[in-house]
Amino acid sequence: MTTKVQTGGCQCGAVRYSARLENDEAYWCHCRMCQRATGGVAAALLGIPRANVEWTTREPDRFASSPIAKRGYCSNCGTPLTFEFNDGSDNMDLTIGSLDDPSAVRLTSHFGAESWVPGWIPHDGLPETRTEDSVHIMARWDKARA
Ligand SMILES: [Zn+2]
Ligand SMILES: [Zn+2]
Repeated sequence: MTTKVQTGGCQCGAVRYSARLENDEAYWCHCRMCQRATGGVAAALLGIPRANVEWTTREPDRFASSPIAKRGYCSNCGTPLTFEFNDGSDNMDLTIGSLDDPSAVRLTSHFGAESWVPGWIPHDGLPETRTEDSVHIMARWDKARA
């Protein structure tokens, strides 16, 4: 798959975006914060360069979900839209359910495996990473705690 433009947005349509996907890879994040932020047992996300996302109606509202990150959502309807680190990272995440065509991407890995709820999402042989095994996330936490 080459670069492909996908559109998406929240349930009420107030926040809409256009995203230039560089691949079709997406993942489940099973971490507790994603569970709470989405109200699901995991968050279906795709990582994308920030520069590839254009907000076509307005920017999402943002909530500081931890000392290291914020989450974009629509304050009118509540749809979770993004995950973004505070430190100006070039990359961010979009929620798969907010894509107009969620089938445009495929599940390729699992993150936050320490909080996995196996009765709802079975193990499937795809790569599984625990949050504490992510060097750059732990480095961000170390910096936030310093
Ligand atoms: Zn909305
Ligand atoms: Zn997560």
